[in-house]
Amino acid sequence: MPDTHALLDALSQALDDATLLKGDAIPAKARSDASLSGRHMPIAYVRPTTVEQVSVALGICNVHQVPVVTQGGMTGLAGGANPVEGAVAISLDRLSGIEEIDTAAGTMTLKAGTVLEVAQKAAEEAGFLLPIDLGARGSCQIGGNIATNAGGIRVIRHGVTRDNILGLEAVLADGTVISSLNRLRKNNTGYDLKHLFVGSEGTLGVITRAVIRLQPLPVGKATALVALLNYDNAVQLLARAQAGLVGLTAFEIMWDSYVSFSSQGEGITLFDRSHPFSVIIEQSGTPDNDALETFLGAMFEEGLIEDALIAQSEKESRQFWAVREGAAYDRLPHLINFDVSIAIGRLGDFAAACEQALREKYPDAHIAFFGHMGDSNLHIAVSVGASDEATLHHVDEITYGVVRDFGGSISAEHGIGVLKRDFLDYSRSPEELALMHAIKKTLDPHGILNPGKVLPPPGTHHEK
Ligand code: ZN
Repeated sequence: MPDTHALLDALSQALDDATLLKGDAIPAKARSDASLSGRHMPIAYVRPTTVEQVSVALGICNVHQVPVVTQGGMTGLAGGANPVEGAVAISLDRLSGIEEIDTAAGTMTLKAGTVLEVAQKAAEEAGFLLPIDLGARGSCQIGGNIATNAGGIRVIRHGVTRDNILGLEAVLADGTVISSLNRLRKNNTGYDLKHLFVGSEGTLGVITRAVIRLQPLPVGKATALVALLNYDNAVQLLARAQAGLVGLTAFEIMWDSYVSFSSQGEGITLFDRSHPFSVIIEQSGTPDNDALETFLGAMFEEGLIEDALIAQSEKESRQFWAVREGAAYDRLPHLINFDVSIAIGRLGDFAAACEQALREKYPDAHIAFFGHMGDSNLHIAVSVGASDEATLHHVDEITYGVVRDFGGSISAEHGIGVLKRDFLDYSRSPEELALMHAIKKTLDPHGILNPGKVLPPPGTHHEK
């Protein structure tokens, strides 16, 4: 049993009062990420401004064998940043700022607590695109984006967060600083250590700094909303868009139930009648709408699409995206979010099977599908009228069971956290899980880093 008093004494001696908060001084946001599933306040809240302070705090927690949770913008949806009982939270809010933009190499070096949108704007001012973008850009932090290997809406063009990270600095459980701030695109010198930390959700180390690869800033963009009769037409349209549209940066699909709920909530009318599927296509680097208009005209002639709206202004394009971002869902009681990956060709069948399986138990549920179709990433918004633990688990079991049947992944971009942990073996083999446990044991022998997250306890697995 850890000695809490001894731990707090040691932290107080090592850190100043602005860096170490205790008791009532700890902000309420430390309890839970945006899944609102957190149940415990941390026993101490460390707000380092330097990597050395992160190292000192971790070293002390390791000696006292006290659990540590790393916190960023708290925008996660999987409970990954929620403290377990008796944990110390390390908030990276104050470890923020851009250290350097190398315009010759096209790289940005920054601290982990930097808000994504701040980094995006700095890149733009220097004439570059920071190729990571997601809805929570105004409050999520780059360290959290990396720790969860966040996806988002630019993945079709630029890949997931992992694909845009050149180098990392991270602090291990015992306080050792691993500085791997590589800036070179080609660097084949042994194991690529940064990838251990990308997507590890705070279970292998605390990410403190990163080097991001920037892209040239595209000039101009064209955005269209397209109506389709069936999913197969969407698959064909995607293939044609990837082959025929230079600079395709988004291909986002919405099922009709999603469009009608979301557009009603936003008070936006898109098409004059409803269509089974709608797709947002965005093309970057084109100064006008001509290419997109020609492409969509041809698709209409071929009978692949039913209707199309091309945004004539930034305001119109924002309306398409407002419906896609679906703020109305935040007001839907008992909303349960899913984030799954299924092969693109089978997404349509998966959605039908998933809806049928859920409706068997919950005939009146609100079930809506939408997502980043180009990345085979589907989100599911479900509300069955209750959100107690038993109901959540039941809805998870049904949905993840269908994911497993389709050979998919239970998390495409949100991560595992605690909410999906017990279903990890639906998507990962026993051999893969054993290797993950071995890596965890090596880097964090006392198991202090974000315990209970990502990895299910050894030896627990579902019968197949
Ligand atoms: Zn998404």
